[in-house]
Parts: sequence; C-alpha cells; structure tokens
Amino acid sequence: MGLRKILTYPADELKHPAQPVKNIDGTINELVTDLVDTMYAAPGLGLAAPQLGIAERVIVVDIDDEEKGKHLIKLINPVIVEAEGKIVWEEGCLSVVDYTAEVSRAKRVLVKGWTTDEQEIAIEAEDLLAVALQHEIDHLEGKLFIDRISRLKRDLYRRRVKKWLRDGVPLEAKKPAVSI
Ligand SMILES: [Zn+2]
Repeated sequence: MGLRKILTYPADELKHPAQPVKNIDGTINELVTDLVDTMYAAPGLGLAAPQLGIAERVIVVDIDDEEKGKHLIKLINPVIVEAEGKIVWEEGCLSVVDYTAEVSRAKRVLVKGWTTDEQEIAIEAEDLLAVALQHEIDHLEGKLFIDRISRLKRDLYRRRVKKWLRDGVPLEAKKPAVSI
C-alpha cells in the first residue's frame, strides 16, 4: 500500500480499456487508497487505475485545492449517463508529461458508479468537475486527452516524447502545472 508509480505516455497499459470491477473487496479498497495517496502526492486532481498499470474501472477525483479530501470522489465502475453542453478546458495529465492542450467536452454530466461501501451513487457535475470525471473515465477506455486533440498537435507531442526518450531525459521530472 502507498504510493505507486504513475505510468506515462507512450506506456502500453494506458491504451487498453479496463475491466469492470466484479467484487468490491479488500484488493479494490487497497487500490482506491493507493490511487488517492498517489494522486495527492503527485499532485493531481484525479487519477485512474490504468495510470498505475491496473486494468480495473476505478477512478478518484478531488478538484478542491484548498480543502483536500473534503470533496474527494472515489468511484468504481463509473458511467456517464447524461451529458450536455460544451466546455473547452486546458487539460494536463499526470500520464502526459510536460504538455497541456485545450480539449472540448460536455459542460455538465451525470455520472453513476459505486462507492467502496458497495453503494450505487450518482454525481451531478459541471465545469472543472465534469471535465475531470470525463478525463478519468476516458482513462478507463484507454484514452488520453491527447486522443481528443488534432492529429497534428498529437504528432508533434509524440515526436517530442520520442526525442526525450532518445536523449535519455527523465520524464518523471517533467510535470504539467495542473494535471488530471
Ligand atoms: Zn489523466
């Protein structure tokens, strides 16, 4: 238990859809705890299990910078059941080092999922919280925010990462200012 390593693009584990959680047991609770600890340590506004290399549908989100933990959301098998409006947000991601880009998403969403106490819950979200939930649920589909930008921008970023890897630049040292 504790802090785990966050995988970064182009890690293969980030590209595959995660499996639905069948039993909310001790292992899942441990995973949730590790996600929360790792998210706060990063620091980030959200984290999804595939970012730790775990192909399970579990996410955590806390967009409250001032009172960490007060509005912490831990969701198992989250699903977007309603989405409306449009918002463009400058997104970053703990798995996409040293890069941010504007992404267009739904402005309001209704997300359903399960708590660690096996209760089904619904969360109505808008603006940044809606963005963060959509961003994390994308991770469960093997999708990164750079999959939602233009091919040209994505290719430019891909080439930058390739060059860093070729030059032996430690990617862990590169973090965007605000990451989801
Ligand atoms: Zn992310």
